[in-house]
Amino acid sequence: MRSAFVAGITGQDGWYLSQNLLAKGYQVHGIARHVESSKGCTPFDSRINLIDADLCKSDQVEAALQNICPDEIYNLAAFSRTYASIACPDEVFAVNARGAVILFDLARDICPNARIFQASSSEMFGKPSGQPQNENTPFNPLNPYAESKIYAHSAATEYRKHYGQFIACGILFNHESERSAQHFAIQKIAHGAACARLGLHESPLKNELNMPIVSDGKLHMGNLMASRDWGYAKDYVEAMWTILQHDTAEDFVIGTGNSFTLERICEIAYLAVGKHWQDHVQSDSGLLRNVDAGRTQADPNKIKKLLQWRAITPIEVIIKNMINAQIAKLSTELGGSVAHLRSNL
Ligand code: NDP
Repeated sequence: MRSAFVAGITGQDGWYLSQNLLAKGYQVHGIARHVESSKGCTPFDSRINLIDADLCKSDQVEAALQNICPDEIYNLAAFSRTYASIACPDEVFAVNARGAVILFDLARDICPNARIFQASSSEMFGKPSGQPQNENTPFNPLNPYAESKIYAHSAATEYRKHYGQFIACGILFNHESERSAQHFAIQKIAHGAACARLGLHESPLKNELNMPIVSDGKLHMGNLMASRDWGYAKDYVEAMWTILQHDTAEDFVIGTGNSFTLERICEIAYLAVGKHWQDHVQSDSGLLRNVDAGRTQADPNKIKKLLQWRAITPIEVIIKNMINAQIAKLSTELGGSVAHLRSNL
């Protein structure tokens, strides 16, 4: 039986990837910083071996790798809040940059034949110099998160070149799901649409300004003209696995090839619950970013041609799934007052 080691298993992608690998017959191991509390938040499949370890602590990672000696390693662990990274560059670099190097280095000693996937990010392109972005587009980072991802990406290239290790990077464009964190844009919009569907004028959840995500019946967003290439996490974890099955370790852009503004996402989401987004969404100057990446759009031709992978879930389906999950969550949290309104879209 093949074995996989997943750093960042408690995150969105970690969850989908572990399900995907189990379905393919892998023995799945994952490190998490707080195993017991993680088990409480997420019902993990009992077949997964969850190990208490912090990627920044090399002795803990070393012990985990020595016990397992995996065939494949997926490094998904990260401080992943892009904009919040500006306030804590040390913490971001410790996990995203140094953590990755710790993993590459230990793997080189302990399991040199393991194939490694490194989660790089389209944030590395920052304000892109051209449209769409592919593996050759220059990096132009705008925040510590992007800088730290470039560091790990470059380290992967160096380790590949100098030590012959199989380390492949997926340059992941934005992707969300029912499991993405609440601060992500589509998750916020899905929450707003769910509130509108349930007739809630005040959301029980807070945004980064510590205000209700929905207040006075309005969803508060930043720049609605920001345009991103948005995909579905479930599709993207299949791309990660596919990249590790290729003959050679290479870098691949992982994206849909389409770019949507947040305004368009709002339109789709509110339409799904029978509302007009203009009545329910407002752009709040307090949520505007000082530096905005502008428009991102992937050119996924390399992965399509070489590995026959493409994103298959349409944006409308992603949004609908996320709204349904938000409705279910709100109905459970708020109980009888809204439960009678619950029904899948
Ligand atoms: P999440 O934020 O959902 O998951 C990140 C995971 O990393 C969490 O499980 C977190 O665990 C874990 N982690 C953080 N620090 C450490 C540490 N020191 N030791 C061990 N684990 C740690 O991210 P996603 O699943 O969305 O993303 C997966 C990867 O893909 C990340 O590297 C992200 O940067 C990258 N990516 C994601 C994109 C997206 O749109 N989702 C786009 C581009 C790249 P804990 O609960 O302990 O914090």
